[in-house]
Amino acid sequence: MSGSGAARRGVPSGGPVRKVRSPHRSEWERLSAEIRSCRKCPLGSLRTHAVVYRGGRAPRVVFVGEAPGIEEDRTGLPFVGRSGRELDQAVATLGLEAGEFGILNVLKCRPPKNRFDRSAARTCRPYLDRQLALLQPEVIVTLGAHALASLDPKAPAVLTAAGRSRPGAAPAVFPLLHPAAALRSRRWRLRWEHDVRALARFLAQRRA
Ligand code: URA
Repeated sequence: MSGSGAARRGVPSGGPVRKVRSPHRSEWERLSAEIRSCRKCPLGSLRTHAVVYRGGRAPRVVFVGEAPGIEEDRTGLPFVGRSGRELDQAVATLGLEAGEFGILNVLKCRPPKNRFDRSAARTCRPYLDRQLALLQPEVIVTLGAHALASLDPKAPAVLTAAGRSRPGAAPAVFPLLHPAAALRSRRWRLRWEHDVRALARFLAQRRA
């Protein structure tokens, strides 16, 4: 694995930034504040922290997860628990540096028992759309079935779709399994790693 812990976690390092494009800061901050104080659905009164985003302000790649878990609810940052460590490892494999990627979720607040809440996802949806419109990533990587279904409702099941880009999507959509799959068994880890390598090739081809 390469890069510092901060780089792997997508914390802006203060080092050189490759792209000059960056979303309108005040609009981004306004949106983030709106999400943090949102009470539009019942999850808003159950959370410790709403989980907005971590990563660069002009990312090439945005990873979209499903919903915050217990660690994310505690810290207010996406993917900081066990699944997050898998995702950070994948980011290192992809050679993405801090500033080149960002991480967010479809749901901004933790659902009870970590069960994805479709009704809350409908309420939350405008936040996701506004975040993506401001970030303008070149590639969106969906993590797991719910993130894929949210961003590409016509996609086949995640096991079929994962590991290759969705045809005709703009920006490009590249589905992966949820990183928690890699923690489940050796078989799922091999599939996860296989798909991450396919994503690495996809990103390299787009760079060439
Ligand atoms: N799983 C997700 O989908 N998102 C997180 O932020 C953490 C775990």
